[in-house]
Amino acid sequence: MDDRLAKKLTILADAAKYDASCASSGAPKRRAAAGELGSTTGAGICHAYTPDGRCVSLLKILLTNYCLFDCAYCVNRRSSNVRRAAFTVEEVITLTVEFYKRNMIEGLFLSSGIVRSPDHTMEQLIRAAKGLRQRHGFRGYIHLKTIPEASPWLIEQAGLYADRLSINLELPTEASLERLAPEKDGAAIEAAMGQMRERIAQGRAEKRRYAPAGQSTQVIVGADSSTDAALIRRSAALYASHDLRRIYYSAFSPIPDASAILPPQAPPLAREHRLYQADWLLRYYAFAPEEVADATEAGMLALDIDPKLAWALKHRERFPVDVNRADRDLLLRVPGLGVRAVDRIVAARRHTRLRLADVARLTSGLKRARPFLIAADHAPTRLTDRSDLRARLAEPPRQLSLFG
Ligand code: SF4
Repeated sequence: MDDRLAKKLTILADAAKYDASCASSGAPKRRAAAGELGSTTGAGICHAYTPDGRCVSLLKILLTNYCLFDCAYCVNRRSSNVRRAAFTVEEVITLTVEFYKRNMIEGLFLSSGIVRSPDHTMEQLIRAAKGLRQRHGFRGYIHLKTIPEASPWLIEQAGLYADRLSINLELPTEASLERLAPEKDGAAIEAAMGQMRERIAQGRAEKRRYAPAGQSTQVIVGADSSTDAALIRRSAALYASHDLRRIYYSAFSPIPDASAILPPQAPPLAREHRLYQADWLLRYYAFAPEEVADATEAGMLALDIDPKLAWALKHRERFPVDVNRADRDLLLRVPGLGVRAVDRIVAARRHTRLRLADVARLTSGLKRARPFLIAADHAPTRLTDRSDLRARLAEPPRQLSLFG
């Protein structure tokens, strides 16, 4: 790679790191045929290319970090002092192919600042993906970030070449968007999501390849005063109306030369983690958004206990539940029991009456589950009344790793 391209890569890979919405799970399995290039695995590949040369599986870059918009939370905003760079479409294609051939990546995550116009930018993103697919027979994973202000026709085209599309919501309320990203239009973002949902559903119904890994979005946490309860309500509405695969919660990180209207500090990383857990309660544990909101204190999730435990502690009258008799839905409410553990319990109890030791073999969360369940040899009638139960189950404070 020549020096000029390497410099651009340093700038534009670094500029892309603020976007969390690049997990690439959900793509269908694909293998290249003769004369084609690349493959995808069904789950879990990603995450990002780092300029210091660490090998990762997704080349995550911006086409350019120039931008016409001035979103206060964004390092690439018009008024920011960052070094700017722009790839050409051909450079993006060459980089992706070269990295792929060296076995360094399995795909591309491509986003961009808005240059010239939303339509022009969207066209460039599509040309990169189309060039990879059509000229190089690239069968690897492609995640395109779409520009909601671009014309609906262009947004639609993106799904012909990408595995996943994402349209970042960024801020959960219209008021926050107006204050922090005045050029963005919440209604346009939602309209673009709605349009994508329809196209993806149509593609599936017609059994044709169209954004097979669906669409996702990202919400920045802690840049405005939205509570966790408000974020979860908003997420639930988005899942329901736009069939999103994932919502990524990205803790706001203070950026160089930040605008004075932003908070000076990042929210605790644990907040992002608790929001992901709350999101799981919505998607896999059949919690209603109001129930998750009920697990908060003044709208905020506790940082020292997970949201399911917080909900159970507030609803002790629903416990303990009997592992040998309770419905699956009720077992899913027991803190410490994940979906997998519950399914294993339901399968195992067909053959035997489960004792506590049996449950211990089926879950690693027995410490949290124990006060909330009844087993053949265990009936904790008083434990759920204990006033110190929360303190006994809270996680001790720990340093979160910067590296995952
Ligand atoms: S439009 Fe995107 S790249 Fe441009 S300032 Fe806003 S968030 Fe940043």
